[in-house]
Amino acid sequence: MYRGVKIILLVLVFFWSSVMAYGELVYVKETGPIMQVPVLLYHRFGPAIPAINDMTVTTDVFESHLKYLKDRGYKVIPLRDFVEYLLKGRLIPGNRSVIITADDGHRSIYSTMFPIVKRYHVPVTLFLYPSAISNASYTMTWDQLREMEETGLFDFQSHTYWHPNFKIEKKRLKPEEYKKFVKMQFKKSKDKLEKELDVNVTTLAWPFGIYNDELVEKAAEAGYVAGFTMERRHASPSDNRMALPRYLMVNSNNPERYLGRILARSSAQGFTPLEGHLLSNGVNEEGDE
Ligand SMILES: [Zn+2]
Repeated sequence: MYRGVKIILLVLVFFWSSVMAYGELVYVKETGPIMQVPVLLYHRFGPAIPAINDMTVTTDVFESHLKYLKDRGYKVIPLRDFVEYLLKGRLIPGNRSVIITADDGHRSIYSTMFPIVKRYHVPVTLFLYPSAISNASYTMTWDQLREMEETGLFDFQSHTYWHPNFKIEKKRLKPEEYKKFVKMQFKKSKDKLEKELDVNVTTLAWPFGIYNDELVEKAAEAGYVAGFTMERRHASPSDNRMALPRYLMVNSNNPERYLGRILARSSAQGFTPLEGHLLSNGVNEEGDE
């Protein structure tokens, strides 16, 4: 008798856990369509472009990007959903999905991007290097980030602890020191973001787009399951999950055309690795004529 009850209970528990596992997420079969998604990367925003172009996108241009996406039926999806799709086959909306990210935590993300994002109600992922937050004058504060988090529109992921150039550090440090340094950059960033913002940090944006096998291995050991770099093509399941491409967004005189050309590309086109976003000097590859 006791044994029978135990078996029934086990069956119930098994059934219930299956429902829990599959009830929340919708999975696509392996034969399902392969999604190619453009991941847009912004840095700074402002009313005008400064004399030295620091990858600022003007307020008007950013707003026109969101309007363009909305008017043409594009769906901005959370970056987290795309990572889930890569890991588990979570279904994402067809080929009109777009992802918006912003790196570095510049204060204009709060002052300029945030109000527009709220108005258009789109999800955004910020890649932050926590050593600067609430410390450097050009960044946001933890309180501002928490205020953004409360809207449910923002996710926060890692851009390492202080945005090092790993190539320079590797030359500068002894091998053992370098290993420790790399580990610290990945772990401390994840720990600090998780503690301050109560988020699950599993994704990394490579500072200056620099990555290699050794760094990927260390990042995976620290608990990262996906990484983002900068290449002008769509991200897809055929990409290396630790080096997914993103489009570096710069200002343009014709934002609709600029964004339209990006959206018309695919994962097969525009394979142009960039050696670090700060070194790119705002080159407008999409043409501005
Ligand atoms: Zn950066």
